[in-house]
Amino acid sequence: MKERNSTAAISVKAPVIGLPRAMLYDRYEVLWKSFFSALGMKGIVSKPTNKAMIEAGSTLAIDEACLSTKIYLGHIQSLIGKCDYILVPRISNFGLHRNMCTKFESLYDVVCNVFRNTDQKFVAYNVDALQKIDEEKAFVDLGTALGYDRKTAQKAYKRAKRNESEDWKKKVHEEEALYKSQGIKVLIVAHSYVLGDAYIGQPVIDYLKGMEVTPIRADVVDRKEALKQSTKVSKTLKWELSRELMGSIQMHRDKVDGLILLSAFPCGPDSMVNEMIIRKFTGLPILNIVLDNQDGTAGLETRLESFTDILKLKKGVL
Ligand code: SF4
Repeated sequence: MKERNSTAAISVKAPVIGLPRAMLYDRYEVLWKSFFSALGMKGIVSKPTNKAMIEAGSTLAIDEACLSTKIYLGHIQSLIGKCDYILVPRISNFGLHRNMCTKFESLYDVVCNVFRNTDQKFVAYNVDALQKIDEEKAFVDLGTALGYDRKTAQKAYKRAKRNESEDWKKKVHEEEALYKSQGIKVLIVAHSYVLGDAYIGQPVIDYLKGMEVTPIRADVVDRKEALKQSTKVSKTLKWELSRELMGSIQMHRDKVDGLILLSAFPCGPDSMVNEMIIRKFTGLPILNIVLDNQDGTAGLETRLESFTDILKLKKGVL
């Protein structure tokens, strides 16, 4: 691909990059948008998850795939033909004992294979710190693969990283303020793409708020501190995102009335980690919910209502 600088890219026709609003979007939204915008590219984001997307993704995925993967494929399908490229990152690890779930290593290949009969182009950036490919190198390589020179790509990455850091600090500050609020507080322990999903995670948050309970996101946390704190619970847990959640519980266990563990069926890491959480954090009421692609929230609401009643009784406000 011929190299170009960002100014030239704007003056011709800005390439359009599609960002699926699923999986790591919630985590990297600011980084991705800032990076592509700094390169002079135009980003389009798939719509919030809806029933049709889940059905489409379930048809495209193998039966054994987790619900999050099915949702992701539904989002990809909704972007096919609407952009020049679709971003599907491949993230293996951030270093020793800092692995991502294997789904994030395979997603790019899975997507290319599932949509092999379309003309859609997909682009990845590959993070594998154990192979000396850190995030910055991965983004610079992505920029050059898209035809930009290394200096332009590096500048875009640095700017994006600054924006991401400022945005994250603000979000963490807002979430931390919730621990000081009055009334019943529940820490929701879930991957950002589960809890931040409009179709599967948002109804849980909405329902709790309707019950006058304050839901607090365990994933919105000072990640460095959470990783440090997680070693007090387990020194061997290898999944980065699970360690952040574990560390977040450790940091906030005395500031909340209970935990809700929210997982996508059938999540391999969560099936082990949730069991560990239940055994390690005794004394805190815990509700373990596994979400699948079945329609209807009646069963879910009954469980949430019973759980919040228990918390209210315990606190003497029911
Ligand atoms: S951690 Fe679980 S929900 Fe997330 S991608 Fe892996 S299997 Fe799916």
